[in-house]
Amino acid sequence: MAVLDQLTSQQAMDLENKYGAHNYHPLPVVLSRGEGVHVWDVEGKQYYDFLSAYSAVNQGHCHPKIVGAMVNQAQTLTLTSRAFYNDMLGKFEKYATETFNFDKLLPMNTGAEAVETALKLCRKWAYEVKGIDENEAEIIVCENNFHGRTTTIISFSNDPVARKNFGPYTKGFIKIEYDNLKALEDALTSNKNIAGFLVEPIQGEAGVFVPSDDYLSKAKALCEKHNVLFIADEVQTGIARTGRLLATCGNCSCADKHCSGTPEVKPDILILGKALSGGAYPVSAVLANDNIMNVIKPGNHGSTFGGNPVAAAIGIAALEVIKDENLAQNASDLGDLFRAELSKYIEHSTIVNAVRGKGLLNAILINDTEDSDTAWNICLALRDNGLLAKPTHGNIIRFAPPLVMTKEQLLDCISIITKTLQQFEK
Ligand SMILES: *Cc1c(COP(=O)(O)O)cnc(C)c1O
Repeated sequence: MAVLDQLTSQQAMDLENKYGAHNYHPLPVVLSRGEGVHVWDVEGKQYYDFLSAYSAVNQGHCHPKIVGAMVNQAQTLTLTSRAFYNDMLGKFEKYATETFNFDKLLPMNTGAEAVETALKLCRKWAYEVKGIDENEAEIIVCENNFHGRTTTIISFSNDPVARKNFGPYTKGFIKIEYDNLKALEDALTSNKNIAGFLVEPIQGEAGVFVPSDDYLSKAKALCEKHNVLFIADEVQTGIARTGRLLATCGNCSCADKHCSGTPEVKPDILILGKALSGGAYPVSAVLANDNIMNVIKPGNHGSTFGGNPVAAAIGIAALEVIKDENLAQNASDLGDLFRAELSKYIEHSTIVNAVRGKGLLNAILINDTEDSDTAWNICLALRDNGLLAKPTHGNIIRFAPPLVMTKEQLLDCISIITKTLQQFEK
């Protein structure tokens, strides 16, 4: 078999199984093309993508404006490293900081790197501005969090699969229950060395857990009272996914085309990734105001590829698409429709217990145990019926299509989903 021969699905899966590390358990489907809300497998079958690469492809597959910016920049200048300036990074930093209303941006590549950056920034601020004794800083995190896969990040995960036999673990983290303000207040009052509170506005990987309405604003107020940095990991919830530019936007007018990103809950440190590139390229970023970001000095932190001109060009295009195409508003409208229609179905269902989410980040709870394979089997049947989704945590199926979907397409998808679920009713 020549390297460039067109493979069948089976051949492609066999190759990955034989030559690739088994660090994922993919749904058996082999994709070779994507456009907008659709992807196609190597045999040419078309699917609706209801994962969007874990919300990286909010702008739709191969968006021409994003791909155009990427190709154009790739033919001009790809990488200088930060040893020299390039003529794209500053433009991206200006555009993104104005969009999200922060003084400064620190560019990285992946979400986990951006989380690591935020943790380092928070600790350095704690020692140099807040005045915590060296090596004593603690950062509060939530149970069932997902922030990535590095050694430090998995140190404060409570997923045994992600953690076991990867120790020794990084110290300096205190874990509290999510959506529990009392637990946060207790942790803040019982310890003088708290530097930050790292939180997902909605816990995506944990199964799309939406906290109480006032949780984020009250948590932010508690952090302010105790001079602790509120760090929002919006890698999955950000960039219009939940019906607003950011999930921390509350009820501001972020769904507006010309939103300046004035959030109801303004994080001290904002972490972005995934859809910051529309799925074209790894682009992540940490945003903060000068009083925090200025603790980082030359040599303190960096990345060879972080802030490269291709990433910068893509980042600008990806954010422009969100605004130009009103994707926050579309996610909000379609999300309401999706939950309303699924709720109607669930009233008479024995196989689905609930639907929950915000904007187009939603999940259904399958009426079976967490270790059952019902959700997996439903996803296989959805695939056969032309729609791709994946279980998260056993009996929960996440539904997160690209935000460029039309109402007609969504209704078509809802009919595929409900017809498929009907096959599993007892
Ligand atoms: C995906 C994700 C990350 C990690 O991003 P990677 O690019 O996979 O490293 C971090 N935080 C959240 C909330 C995520 O969803």
